[in-house]
Amino acid sequence: MKFTDLNLIEPIERAIAAQGYTAPTPIQAQSIPYLLAGKDLLGVAQTGTGKTAAFALPLLQRLVQSGARPTSGAPRALILAPTRELASQIDACIKTYARHLRLFHTVVFGGAPMRPQVRDLQRGVDILVATPGRLLDHINQRNVRLNGVETFILDEADRMLDMGFVGDVKKMAAMLPKAHQTVLFSATMPPSVAALAQGLLNDPVRVEV
Ligand code: AMP
Repeated sequence: MKFTDLNLIEPIERAIAAQGYTAPTPIQAQSIPYLLAGKDLLGVAQTGTGKTAAFALPLLQRLVQSGARPTSGAPRALILAPTRELASQIDACIKTYARHLRLFHTVVFGGAPMRPQVRDLQRGVDILVATPGRLLDHINQRNVRLNGVETFILDEADRMLDMGFVGDVKKMAAMLPKAHQTVLFSATMPPSVAALAQGLLNDPVRVEV
């Protein structure tokens, strides 16, 4: 399969071609059509399989095609990651893949000053990448609200649970609007992750590599 078989828009195809990607990885080939169609998805995949592009490329495309503009403090997509390193990596990937698109994104994580994060959130972003603890701080301080989130993505859900974030994740999931797309990726699927997925996902497609 080629990337051109996936019905991605030209500015996204151009960005991934510039990265030297020629063919989608198996997780990308299996996930992207369903995610473009707006389905919920449960992905079992390790780092190194190309899972970031698998969820990021259809996310970018759906945000562009819906044509809405971000409002202050109300991101249109939320990506949760367990660590600041992973959150930063995801944000860097989004920057690369969105280079020809008019979308705004930022990343917030603990251990960094609040003020620049508050400024970015209040300018308005389409995509917010966050670690759970710091995002909850911003929510409690009214710097951001989740009622405009169209797509909710949890990456490395198993690590997120190992780090004790399950309560925070559920609390934030309860703040999302009723109609939204949810995507959950995990390297492993122990009963705790399966239970979380069961609670968050609506009739998901399951993809495993
Ligand atoms: P990830 O599993 O998302 O951490 O991605 C692992 C690495 O694979 C990253 O360095 C990506 O830039 C790279 N990558 C992702 N998709 C492709 C692709 N279709 N072709 C070649 N490299 C890719």
